[in-house]
Amino acid sequence: MVQVATTPDEVHELVSGLNFKEKVDRSLDLIADARREFGDGLVVANSLGKDSVAIWDLAKRVDPKIRGFIVTTRFKPPATRQFMNEVVARYPETLIFKNDVEIPDELYKTDPDECCDLLKVQPVRWAIEQMGVSCWVTGLRCTEGRTRTDYLEREERDEGLIKLNPILPWEEREVWQYLALYQVPVNPLYAEGYRSLGCEPCTHLTAGGSERDGRWLDTSKCGGECGIHTRPLKSGATA
Ligand code: SF4
Repeated sequence: MVQVATTPDEVHELVSGLNFKEKVDRSLDLIADARREFGDGLVVANSLGKDSVAIWDLAKRVDPKIRGFIVTTRFKPPATRQFMNEVVARYPETLIFKNDVEIPDELYKTDPDECCDLLKVQPVRWAIEQMGVSCWVTGLRCTEGRTRTDYLEREERDEGLIKLNPILPWEEREVWQYLALYQVPVNPLYAEGYRSLGCEPCTHLTAGGSERDGRWLDTSKCGGECGIHTRPLKSGATA
């Protein structure tokens, strides 16, 4: 079994202390350990970004039967919707969750936190409940931006729900290295220059800086989080 990093400092030591191959092997081992522990309760969250398709590919190498879920919104770019349809056609064990509730026009401008909570966080709660998830696997990385520096490889933010972050110490270059080496298809929007992808009104092209700087540009949420990794996720959670 892999000895998981239990402090952010330990995670950051792995960023520079492991080479690419060691990181890939560690990620595979973390997923394999969790698969043995949680069985079918282990499910991969796929945002259709580069980190997610890397983690999905890793998970399928561990066990092709591993299931996944995608949260989509009415504001996803057409290219992302098309890419999502291709992923689901290839992997029908991936379920899609979407909240079609009526919301005020341009809520993403007036209250992006509320917009994300309704359209992104709530469907994750549904996925976790409906798919019987006891361990969800994410593509979080500690080098992505200012909001992602303090996560751990294995967390229990909600009681009884483990979050596994198997590529937490990977750097941006290593994600692209993996995707190129293993010929993993990616969202075509990356060819336009995006480094991090989300909903169309809240995703902008940037140069330099950190990967998530183009997310929610010019709002209080700039470079921040939608809430999936910060808000309670267990059914009935309201805080
Ligand atoms: S990313 Fe923007 S459009 Fe998408 S749910 Fe959040 S605030 Fe709304």
